[in-house]
Amino acid sequence: MSEITYRLPQEIRLTGEFPGPKSRELTERRARVVPAGVASSTPVYAADADGGVVVDVDGNSLVDLGSGIAVTSVGASAPAVVDGVREAASHFTHTCFMVTPYEGYVAVAEQLNELTPGDHPKRTVLFNSGAEAVENAVKIARAATSRNAVVVFDHAYHGRTNLTMALTAKAAPYKAGFGPFAPEIYRVPMSYPYREAAPIGGKEAAERAIQQIEKQIGAENVAAVLIEPIQGEGGFIVPADGFLPRLSEWTRDNGVVFIADEVQAGFCRTGKWFAVDHEGVVPDLVTTAKGIAGGMPLSAVTGRAELFDAVKPGGLGGTYGGNPVSCAAALGAIQTMRDWDLGARAQAIEAQVRSVLEPLVEELDIVGEFRGRGAMLALELVSDSASKTPHPTAAKEIASYCMDRGVIVLTAGTYGNVIRLLPPLVIGEELLGRALEILADAIRAAA
Ligand SMILES: *Cc1c(COP(=O)(O)O)cnc(C)c1O
Repeated sequence: MSEITYRLPQEIRLTGEFPGPKSRELTERRARVVPAGVASSTPVYAADADGGVVVDVDGNSLVDLGSGIAVTSVGASAPAVVDGVREAASHFTHTCFMVTPYEGYVAVAEQLNELTPGDHPKRTVLFNSGAEAVENAVKIARAATSRNAVVVFDHAYHGRTNLTMALTAKAAPYKAGFGPFAPEIYRVPMSYPYREAAPIGGKEAAERAIQQIEKQIGAENVAAVLIEPIQGEGGFIVPADGFLPRLSEWTRDNGVVFIADEVQAGFCRTGKWFAVDHEGVVPDLVTTAKGIAGGMPLSAVTGRAELFDAVKPGGLGGTYGGNPVSCAAALGAIQTMRDWDLGARAQAIEAQVRSVLEPLVEELDIVGEFRGRGAMLALELVSDSASKTPHPTAAKEIASYCMDRGVIVLTAGTYGNVIRLLPPLVIGEELLGRALEILADAIRAAA
C-alpha cells in the first residue's frame, strides 16, 4: 500500500469577497444561456480540484465533502486516472465497442466480475450513466424472466430518464410535470428505522414489503426487486439488519431477479467494495456508476451470466457505452482504490466523523439521527426529537453556513432535511477535522 499524494495544498483558503468576482460574472453569463432547471449547490465555479479540495476561479480553496455526488472517491485528479485518460486519449477517443471493440472494455468487465459479490459465472455490460445502467438492468431482468413488474421502495432514487423517474420515489423536483411515466412499477415500504411508527426489525420490515408484493402484484408477475442497499438521495437510509437478506431470499425462492443499485454506495464508499457486502447479500444484478471511473462517465450492469443469455446479440449497447477513455479511467480508479486501500480509508473517515457528529444527537434537539456507513454518513434534522418533524430549513442553513466558510456540504432526503457527507476517500485527516469543526459550528448555530 502506497502513501496518498496530493498536487494541490490541502487547505481552506478564502481570498476575500465570496463568491468572488469571476464566479459572479460566470453566474451572470450562465443565467443568459443555461436553464434554471439545472441548479447548482455552490455559487462558485471550479478551476482545479485534487484530494479533498476544490479550487474556484477566484482562487478560493474549499473542502469537498460531496465528491461531485459520490463520484470522485479517488479524488478529482487522481494520478492513475489522469495518466490512464491521457494515454488512452492519445491513441483513440472512440471507435464504438459495437463497431471495433478494444481491450479496456474487456478489462473493466473482468474487474467488475471479480469485485462484485458471488463467485458464480458473471457478465458485465457498460454504459454511460447510472440511469442507463438501471434501465438496462430492468431490461435484462424482464427478458430473463418474461415478466413485467418491477418492485421499488419508498424514498428510492434511480435516475431522471423516463423509466428511472418512474422508479424514483420523490415527486418534486424529479418527477412533477414530467409524466406520463412507465408502467408496471410497484412501490413498497422501505425499512427506515428512524421513522417507523413502532420499532420493527429488518426481517419483519421485509415481510411487510413481501406481503404487499404477494397481495398486490403476485410473485409470479415480478421480474425484479430493485433496491439501493443504502439509499442515497432518499437520505442515506440504512435498512435494519436482516432486511436485505430476507428480500434476497424471497427473490431467490420466487424466480425474481434481485437488483442492487450500488450506483452511489458502491466502490469502497461504505468501507467495502459494495454496500451489500456488509450483509453478505449476493445480488443477481448490480448496477454501478458514480465512483467507478474517477469522474469520467461510465456505468455498468454486472451479474449472473445466465440472465444475460436471455438477451439476443444487439439487444444491449449504445454508441458511447464503455467509452475507451472512461474505461482507462475506471482501471486507474480501481487500481487507486487497491493501492491506497480506500475501503480502509472510508472506515477511518467514519470513525473520525462519528466522533465529532454523533454526540450532537444527545446535545442538540434538532439532530434526530446520525447514520450511514463508511464515508456515506448523514444527519437527519428535525424541529424537535419528540415529534421528529422534518426540518429542511435547518439543513439549508447549515449547508450555506458551511459554504460561506469554505466547506462544500450537500443535503438530501425525501423531506430535504438530511445533511449528507460524501468526502473523497483520499481526504486527509487534518483537513477533514477542520471541515467537521465548521460543520459542527453550523449545526449549533442552526439549533
Ligand atoms: C445517482 C444515482 C443514479 C442515477 O445516476 P446518473 O448517473 O445520475 O444517471 C441511480 N441510482 C442511484 C442509487 C444514484 O445515486
